[in-house]
Amino acid sequence: DTGKKAQIGVTGLAVMGRNLARNFARHGYTVALHNRTPTRTHALVEEFGREGTFLPSDDPAAFVASLERPRRLVIMVKAGMSTDAVIEEFAGLLEPGDMIIDGGNAHFEDTRRREAALRERGLHFVGTGVSGGEEGALNGPSIMPGGSAEAYAAVGPMLEDIAAKAADGTPCCVHVGPDGAGHFVKMVHNGIEYADMQLIAEAYDLLRHVAGYRPAEIAEIFRTWNTGRLDSYLIEITSEVLAHSDAATGLPFVDVVADSAGQKGTGRWTVQTALDLGVPVSGIAEAVFARSVSGHTGLRQAARGLPGPERAPLSPQDARHFADQVEQALYASKVVSYAQGWNMIDAAGAEYGWSIDLGAVAAIWRGGCIIRAAFLDRIRAAFDADPKLPTLLADREFAAEVGAAQRDWRTVVATAVTHGVPAPGFAAALSYYDALRAERLPAALTQGQRDYFGAHTYRRADREGSFHTLWGGDR
Ligand code: NAP
Repeated sequence: DTGKKAQIGVTGLAVMGRNLARNFARHGYTVALHNRTPTRTHALVEEFGREGTFLPSDDPAAFVASLERPRRLVIMVKAGMSTDAVIEEFAGLLEPGDMIIDGGNAHFEDTRRREAALRERGLHFVGTGVSGGEEGALNGPSIMPGGSAEAYAAVGPMLEDIAAKAADGTPCCVHVGPDGAGHFVKMVHNGIEYADMQLIAEAYDLLRHVAGYRPAEIAEIFRTWNTGRLDSYLIEITSEVLAHSDAATGLPFVDVVADSAGQKGTGRWTVQTALDLGVPVSGIAEAVFARSVSGHTGLRQAARGLPGPERAPLSPQDARHFADQVEQALYASKVVSYAQGWNMIDAAGAEYGWSIDLGAVAAIWRGGCIIRAAFLDRIRAAFDADPKLPTLLADREFAAEVGAAQRDWRTVVATAVTHGVPAPGFAAALSYYDALRAERLPAALTQGQRDYFGAHTYRRADREGSFHTLWGGDR
């Protein structure tokens, strides 16, 4: 037929799909629309039809037929089994060379499986991480596509068009690597987001319960931090949340909200995957565990009466000094959790043969996504200067900054401990830093223990080979 065809189609028109479709349309693309429940499709055209050219279809076959070839079909449906069902439905209607772009929050292992299965059928599958929530989807998300280079050539330029732009104008979208690479990197993004949020929450807790500041004062401190090296979306919104008063009671918003945090599971996936890959991501793990502790109300109830130290608030002058020290601790801990996240991406690249450009990952997180920050420019620079950098902590600039922060960082962790304020993120980051820099680790003793009870043998520091000691003579 000779009817007008769309350059791209979106199926799944809940908040994310709808906003992505509008974003494509606003960039001048003709966008085919479909949703299982047609009312959503009609509502989009009714409300936003003026924003561009939409070709709505109620029927999957008509939707597919309205796309120019090779077809680019974005699916933005509930992650998990729904995604499999939708892929199955549309794969049967597509022809070799067509591509399915899954923008949902899929687990990268599912993406690997789906990509392999569709490749067998001559179809491209582009598992794509999308970060930035509803607002990002509409105005420019950070986009992390995985899949074949051929598929990226066909759809990448359109994704780059609708992506956020960094301050230097470059799109926050890059071909991350084959099959599951995009969704893997999105998962680690979310893990780092958990760690960042936890560290910021610990900084708040210390400023509140050690320094004795009120939420509105802490909002002001965060606002100042946001003009320096901590400049980031998360610090900015934290300041706004802390400045907010509850309309019903007039109390600080943070004081009327239940203190148990939810999670959708991407942080957990990150930690589970890191355990499989053998990469220590203690910052992310502590953040996931901290949310989980907060949710165990029964445990917390049972432990409420346990003794702890008396707390006396600091003098105003000491409080100001302490706030500066907390900034140092927050920054150093943040560098550690990013270093761990990048180690994880690097390890996955080696495991799955992805050859991910580590600097480019930092570059596409500079805009659109939740962890966007000035700081990412410097991570990019570090990996551009040395693509084989073993850890961010070894980069000259970061090493100097963390080195300069370490005394205050220790003071903050020690103060948290003596004041009985939990700071698992700060403490774990500092322990990781000290473990990496240690001359000797007690793992030597662990080797001895393993050899004693299980004849696991040990290696020696001074010569090659594996050794076993006949412990206790007659064992
Ligand atoms: P959602 O609530 O996760 O999913 C609702 C959409 O999925 C609706 O269009 C629904 O169609 C469709 N759907 C569910 N099961 C289906 C099935 N078996 N067959 C066909 N369609 C089905 O929507 P969302 O919040 O917009 O998120 C979409 C995807 O983006 C998810 O994978 C999500 O994890 C991911 N994501 C979300 C965010 C965010 O901030 N929300 C950010 C990044 C990524 P009906 O209208 O017919 O029910």
